[in-house]
Amino acid sequence: MSITRPTSFDEITYPINERPAKGELQEVAPGVYWLAMPMSGSLAFINLYLLEDHDGWWIVDTGLSNAQTTQVWEDVFTNAIGGRPVLGVICTHMHPDHIGQAKHITDRFRCPLYMTQGEYFQARAFANGGGNSQSGWIGEKFYVQAGMPKDYLEQLAKMWASRSSEGMSMPTMVQGYERLQDGQILRIGETDWQIVVGSGHSPEHACLYSSALKVLISGDQILPIITSNVSVHPTEPNANPLKNWMESHDHFLEVIPEDTFVLPAHNLPFFGVKPRLRDLINHHEDRMLAIEEACVEPQIAKDLLPVLFARKLDSRQMMMALGEAIAHVHLLMHRNRLQRVASDDGVFRYRSVDPTLSRRAHPFDHEAPDDQPAYV
Ligand SMILES: [Zn+2]
Repeated sequence: MSITRPTSFDEITYPINERPAKGELQEVAPGVYWLAMPMSGSLAFINLYLLEDHDGWWIVDTGLSNAQTTQVWEDVFTNAIGGRPVLGVICTHMHPDHIGQAKHITDRFRCPLYMTQGEYFQARAFANGGGNSQSGWIGEKFYVQAGMPKDYLEQLAKMWASRSSEGMSMPTMVQGYERLQDGQILRIGETDWQIVVGSGHSPEHACLYSSALKVLISGDQILPIITSNVSVHPTEPNANPLKNWMESHDHFLEVIPEDTFVLPAHNLPFFGVKPRLRDLINHHEDRMLAIEEACVEPQIAKDLLPVLFARKLDSRQMMMALGEAIAHVHLLMHRNRLQRVASDDGVFRYRSVDPTLSRRAHPFDHEAPDDQPAYV
């Protein structure tokens, strides 16, 4: 099928209204096929992509590690790709909905896994048996600093238990990989795919760009509609991921042309990469200004959540929301706009210190808070 390209790229448009049916491939560019993989939860689907090579296929992202997803893949291998082998699996980043089936598929076809080094080793660290940083004194200290009650870690432990029973836990990882790096070219069939790396949502997120096809496979780095989660976690309590995220937007604005067709991991493929990147930049700048305004009176991280999110949050949403709030706070500290003070009880308080704030502030003219944090 051919996609109708818009004449203007000043706004976001969706040339395809519907996702392909379960187990079916939809060609979205020459040799590029879209597979919508069902997921539980509010996201409902992850978009995976198959790239046709001369004597087989490449897979970009793999779905969750659960039986339902494995079954859809088996159907695809038998029917949709006509019995031809998978030659390589590319995972954009290390989140469970992207790497869940990487081991299954690479074992089945004895083909290599391609990832960036940052994503591969983080996945291995967090994979089954790797443990998580939400327990123990490091996690406890992190959440006390954020102003959370002592029993919050117990609530989180229950959340992790239910999360793993939903197949959302980290799978066992592939034992070896091929490294992807920013600027590298992968030739698949007759198409050169340039690796473009972003950061902030995950450490070293790979996107694939073809200038000949004018297509970007964007993973979770650039999504329409929802804002990917950008969080500080107890693993690295003083990380500044929002700085990386904002710099990545600038990088993509520079290297990806405006007429690019974006194939994201969630929601529908779209045109309008530049307006979307500018929206994302403006969104986070607006959130940061709202936080600065709130911090004229010193605030703890927990009390900043209503600035960002409208809904009452459960323990898992709370964890992601806190991580996001702290990410915004850390970039503001880096910009010398907030100061962090630890009180005797170990709780951090944030205070606005930028003298130009009174000129920049517009407290009644902000975007409405998001409903809840996105699970991507
Ligand atoms: Zn992700």
